[in-house]
Amino acid sequence: MKNSISRRNFVYKTVGASAGALVIPSISGFTLQDKTRGIKPLIITSHANETGQKAMETGWEILKNGGSAVDAVEKAANIIELDPEDTSVGYGGLPNERGIVQLDSSFMDGKTYSAGAVACLENIKTPASVAKLVMQHTDHVLLVGAGALEFAKAWGFQEENLLTEKARKIWLRWKEEMSPSDDWGSPEHLQNLSKNETYWHDFPDIEHHYGTTNVLAIDSNGDIAGCTTTSGLSFKLNGRVGDSPIIGAGLYADNEVGAAGATGRGEDVIKSCASYYIVLRMKDGRTPQQACQDALQMIVDRYKKVNPGYFPSEKFVAINKFGEVGCASMKGTRNPQISVRTDKGYDRYDGVVAFPGK
Ligand code: ASP
Repeated sequence: MKNSISRRNFVYKTVGASAGALVIPSISGFTLQDKTRGIKPLIITSHANETGQKAMETGWEILKNGGSAVDAVEKAANIIELDPEDTSVGYGGLPNERGIVQLDSSFMDGKTYSAGAVACLENIKTPASVAKLVMQHTDHVLLVGAGALEFAKAWGFQEENLLTEKARKIWLRWKEEMSPSDDWGSPEHLQNLSKNETYWHDFPDIEHHYGTTNVLAIDSNGDIAGCTTTSGLSFKLNGRVGDSPIIGAGLYADNEVGAAGATGRGEDVIKSCASYYIVLRMKDGRTPQQACQDALQMIVDRYKKVNPGYFPSEKFVAINKFGEVGCASMKGTRNPQISVRTDKGYDRYDGVVAFPGK
């Protein structure tokens, strides 16, 4: 693993002298975007593994040659979607309870305030590209199921089997071991789980019950775009749609502020409009890091009345228009990481666990 950029390296700078001036953090190795220094392109993904790095290099090739954030984000997301080993996104993603891989994806262009998304899309390996086409070639925002597939086919996408052998075996094992803690039960936050139990405590060795990727970028014009793409919660009910294709929940981008994306339990992200909330917080002067943590705090506060012990698994990522990044996850012992690519090269950034030990 390459050097991580630690949030401990943040140097806080006050920009402007007036009362209430923005306090903007600068991450060592990353330059603040400002008019005197010119716009520095940047691309990040919540995938901090090798595929995430490959995706960043692909996106960076586009950005470094003056390409748009929209194109960079799409091509980077496609790399992750096409990785058959990744059971959380695109081809190879874990299926729903019926063994069907249903993909969700959203796209947002912060420059034009346009957005597109697909939900429950079957048989298409790169839903991010379909979401981008919905954004660019229709006046609609969200297409679902059969309609989304019809749209993709009209644009020349080939139908393919998305269920890999690896994913099928994991699904069959889940079928064999179904328990009262599957998705037919009452909402997780109303269940009587003890502190150490998780929603998936019966399947500790099955990876990626959650998992999604967010890709966010700024191009050399200072335009901002984002994409979120996923196979969603594994073994979900047929037809279940998570937060990833919901604009404002799994993704939001605004050229004047920045962009944010979410992974984790989508139901909580939908109810909290988390990505929009993060962008609003950044608009109010919070750094991307602070804004991601603010969103987690907001979710916990919402649940305080119904179940103070409930801490849903969420991870948020964000960038602002100054080229700064942030990442925070709800609980756990390992800092969440994201991949970052700038003109200084590829690196990983360590985010914050907002509620360690929960
Ligand atoms: N947020 C996605 C969903 O709920 C899953 C994930 O990110 O793990 O569908």
